[in-house]
Amino acid sequence: MNSILIVDDNVHLIAVLGKMLAPIAQVRFATAGLPALAQMRAEPPQLVLLDAEMPGMSGYAVCQAMRADPELDKIPVIFVTAHNDAQAEVRALDAGAVDFITKPVNEPVLLARVQTQLRLKALTDELRRSAAIDGLTRVANRGAFDERLQLEHARAARTGGELSLLLLDVDHFKRFNDHYGHPGGDACLREIASALAGQARRPADLASRIGGEEFALLLPDTDMAGALGAAERLIAAIASLALPHAASPTAARVTVSIGIASCVPPQQQAAGAERQLVERADQALYRAKAEGRNRACAALFS
Ligand code: GH3
Ligand code: MG
Ligand code: MG
Repeated sequence: MNSILIVDDNVHLIAVLGKMLAPIAQVRFATAGLPALAQMRAEPPQLVLLDAEMPGMSGYAVCQAMRADPELDKIPVIFVTAHNDAQAEVRALDAGAVDFITKPVNEPVLLARVQTQLRLKALTDELRRSAAIDGLTRVANRGAFDERLQLEHARAARTGGELSLLLLDVDHFKRFNDHYGHPGGDACLREIASALAGQARRPADLASRIGGEEFALLLPDTDMAGALGAAERLIAAIASLALPHAASPTAARVTVSIGIASCVPPQQQAAGAERQLVERADQALYRAKAEGRNRACAALFS
């Protein structure tokens, strides 16, 4: 069921709105801006109904904070306000709201507008999901990886958590294609991708294809020891696929090389700081290749 967060300092109005919306959604509430933002992060709703005027943090400020936060910027906001002049409406839309409802709230108008926004949200979520998937392997694509990396890096900076990254590159894949043909190569990439997806064990883990025969596994809240464990399991899983590679100088089977890097991002960080994690994992991958392939190497410093 859809969930809607009602944010209003007036508990009476929360009760009225909640009763109107109960038939179409699961309704939660907050009575001030900061707890509302915390609730959205802990459990993102499909829609927020936001009181424009609240003591302390105003609804406008809450909406602006949501739009500036990559974790919250895709949650639509409808403002509920006592002012029904053009200026208030423009201010709400400027702050990033998708719609605007005036008090006293008319039930059919509220339901119609809320349902429109819930339908739009479901549609854009579905579009976003399909745009984030790699067509060949069905794991996440490059764009989805970049977006998630930035988000998880920012989250780790905020929570003090450790973020780990595995970069995987298929060994001698050009020879594989030359020997088995491009469709054979494609089938091989699908198998590797499903082995990788099998190591994305927690909801926040992300398996993705970031290049032709290059994959990434992003592991939030995971230290280097945990990442090394995942890399070992991944190499074992790919070995147990036992995909023949008659043209490989490394082994008779398809093998992969993996570079691993971990970081605890500082609270204050420059834009694009997350790319350092990729660079370090890439250098470790380069070493895994140079040291003979079919192995995982960890970045030496953090
Ligand atoms: P190394 O062990 O050093 O990684 O050597 P490699 O041959 O795997 O690396 P290289 O980068 O030289 O070659 C990658 C090959 O991957 C070349 C390209 O034709 C192939 N490739 C890239 N994308 C696809 C794809 O979508 N399907 C198939 N079948 N092959 C692809
Ligand atoms: Mg490559
Ligand atoms: Mg390769």
